[in-house]
Amino acid sequence: MIDTTFAQLRSAYESGRTRPLTWRREQLDALRRMIAEHREDFIAALMVDLDKPAAETVLMELNLVADEARFVRNRLSRWAARRPKPMPAALQPAAGWTVAEPKGAVLVIAPWNYPVLLALAPLADALAAGNAVCLKPSELAANTSRLIAELVPQYLDPEAVCVVEGGAKETGELLKQPFDHIFYTGGERVGTIVMKAAAEHLTPVTLELGGKSPCFVDRTADINVAARRIAWGKFANAGQTCVAPDYVLATPDVAEKLAKRIAVAITEFFGENPRSSHDYGRIINNRHMERLIGLLPAGTVPSETPSSPLVVAASAVGAAMDMMGRRINAGVVANRHGRGIDADDSESTSDIVPVPGVSDPTGRIICGGKVDREARYFAPTVLYGTQPDAAVMQEEIFGPILPILVVRDVDAAIRFMNTRPKPLAAYVFSNDHAVRLAFERRTSSGALGFNLPLGHLLSSRLPFGGVGASGMGAYHGKAGFDTFSHIKTVVVKPQFPDTLRVVYPPFTEAKQRF
Ligand code: NAD
Repeated sequence: MIDTTFAQLRSAYESGRTRPLTWRREQLDALRRMIAEHREDFIAALMVDLDKPAAETVLMELNLVADEARFVRNRLSRWAARRPKPMPAALQPAAGWTVAEPKGAVLVIAPWNYPVLLALAPLADALAAGNAVCLKPSELAANTSRLIAELVPQYLDPEAVCVVEGGAKETGELLKQPFDHIFYTGGERVGTIVMKAAAEHLTPVTLELGGKSPCFVDRTADINVAARRIAWGKFANAGQTCVAPDYVLATPDVAEKLAKRIAVAITEFFGENPRSSHDYGRIINNRHMERLIGLLPAGTVPSETPSSPLVVAASAVGAAMDMMGRRINAGVVANRHGRGIDADDSESTSDIVPVPGVSDPTGRIICGGKVDREARYFAPTVLYGTQPDAAVMQEEIFGPILPILVVRDVDAAIRFMNTRPKPLAAYVFSNDHAVRLAFERRTSSGALGFNLPLGHLLSSRLPFGGVGASGMGAYHGKAGFDTFSHIKTVVVKPQFPDTLRVVYPPFTEAKQRF
């Protein structure tokens, strides 16, 4: 069945129907129309899947897809045009140019956390580049997946764009097909599966993965603004955002004040009881609830007798697998993804300062720590005085828990970051130019935000992607167009006069002098 789907897609591509720029523009216009005409349906689907507030769906999913589709639509003819390149004197007379050609039949595999944005934005880039596309939404956002599967054939060319629904089994079948490019967004464990499968056909991949994105704060920052922005970036979508600040490294002079101000910002945003706020989301499923509960200080949430033993068994197995997949092995020494450590870059045990009176390595709960398993509600939680060996520092949190570690100074923070896998994003709240420059020059991350989390995600003009353990390749705007294109080099030389005679054998002495 999946073989047939792939064969149809490939033959649609080979028929040439996806290449004309008019076809690409029509598809992108139709994609925008689909979003505009079904805005309420998307809001409803995301509400069921993630309890995502309507405003968040509109601002962080629908508008971003529409913007991306418009941006690439209006520029694709320029990007697809021939680019003349100068040729060396020895080859004259001759001309050379590059031209972007579509890769062919491509696969886009999307995750559940922004299930519209992360499916349809790469789709827009792939269509702009003139590909036939197979889209595989996440089965965990089941209602959104269903809606996408229903709408796409109504709006987009059904011969050249298909949606395959399902989970690991269906994705595994898709991965056996010789696609011309695979674009995957999700966790590291499945990223490895995707890359191995792609290697069988030498298929190029883009991997948009995750990781623990750090956030450094020093005393030159305005702590109130920093607190609000960090709280916004962290607790949007209940912390289930790939570029959310995962943890904070704050210098001793500001750490406690920052922790308390973040708690104040949470109350400003979601009220005294975030549970009753319409602006605060829910955790995707029981498995992730249990995983997150396991990251809180011991004894914070009593373990519960579950209603169905089956649910719990599945949760436990799932959580264990998840841990295996995402565990970042963030011990003090760099793992296989870590950079080579310079002598002065190795972490010193005194880089993270212990907080008097905080004995649990997970830290002290400043706010939150409350959950309702049945409602999949997990309160926005701030931890203060967390130590690097705590469970919450060993894996990407991907939920509404924010540990604050007290770091000795900027050098210690840079060392801390450099002895861990390269993150998808890093954030620095500092108004000291030298500190910002130090992070820009001495650390590596998919993106770097000064005084601004998440901002880079919102522009089609900025490439979006990871580095090292947080992924490879990028998309959005031109970067997305290039990802889904092959940049072909073309050269031409007139046959007469045959100036190449000077390089033909036999290589006489005169030719060697030349
Ligand atoms: P997920 O569980 O939705 O999985 C992603 C996709 O992989 C889904 O389509 C799923 O069906 C498929 N899949 C699952 N198991 C599979 C298997 N065994 N074989 C083949 N395919 C399989 O998403 P997730 O992994 O829970 O996503 C969370 C992770 O994604 C986090 O690490 C997060 O940081 C990262 N993420 C990254 C970005 C980014 O843009 N870089 C965006 C969102 C999420």
